[in-house]
Amino acid sequence: MSEINAKVVIITGASSGLGEATAHRLARGGAKLVLAARREERLKALTDQINEQGGDAIYRVTDVTKREQVEDLAQAARDTYGRIDVLINNAGVMPLSPLNRLKVDEWEQMVDVNIKGVMYGIAAVLPTMRDQHSGHVINLSSVAGHVVFPAAAIYCATKFAVKALSEGLRQESNGEIRSTNISPGAIATELTTTISDDKTAQGVNELYEMAIDADAIARAIAFAIEQPADVDVNELIIRPTQQQ
Ligand code: NDP
Repeated sequence: MSEINAKVVIITGASSGLGEATAHRLARGGAKLVLAARREERLKALTDQINEQGGDAIYRVTDVTKREQVEDLAQAARDTYGRIDVLINNAGVMPLSPLNRLKVDEWEQMVDVNIKGVMYGIAAVLPTMRDQHSGHVINLSSVAGHVVFPAAAIYCATKFAVKALSEGLRQESNGEIRSTNISPGAIATELTTTISDDKTAQGVNELYEMAIDADAIARAIAFAIEQPADVDVNELIIRPTQQQ
């Protein structure tokens, strides 16, 4: 099975931004969606909208920093649809600040969501994908997983880690599980609202004036999924044409 149609796809961080845009695009392609995030109202509204438009979606309220909740999410996919074809590890936070501001709680939040959330996602689906002898894990890294920006040391560290996880999974996939690392540049979402440091927020908001629409990333994700089963798209960098 190489197309989007009828694939069972779990999307974390589906309540806004890239996850939401990807849910809409994959639903139009005929995917069976399992949508996850913490904000239930948003998830329910998205799920209802997709189902009213002829799609097939369920949701589970999930905090990806809680390993058992991520396991329950994978179980919901198996219980409802009988298999897991794709996991999109998309949930992420970006409370940027210079190291010397010592916002250690925010550093830990980035590690918990951006790294541990991805690890828990992989752990929750890997046995099923091994049993199926097929599967696809798509991780949201960032341009910040390739270069380090000012005031972004911890965020970049988490996104470098995501890139390493994607590559490690690829190497250990036994020729059965595809691994795609998606690295967006500036995309217009709610991500910048997690920045509590005013000066950093101001600089990032100026950069994000060039931000492109979330569907640019949804299209890249769809491209990776719809390749034939023997084609593994490992790395895509998508940024605004204007971005340096
Ligand atoms: P948004 O802020 O719009 O979406 C982030 C999503 O993550 C929300 O749905 C949020 O849902 C979810 N989330 C946050 N914390 C948790 C948690 N503990 N458990 C479960 N879900 C959580 O940002 P984007 O759509 O832009 O971000 C998506 C991914 O793309 C992130 O990994 C981000 O780092 C990456 N990225 C984005 C770029 C951009 O410019 N937008 C650039 C490069 C990478 P809720 O609060 O309901 O839990």
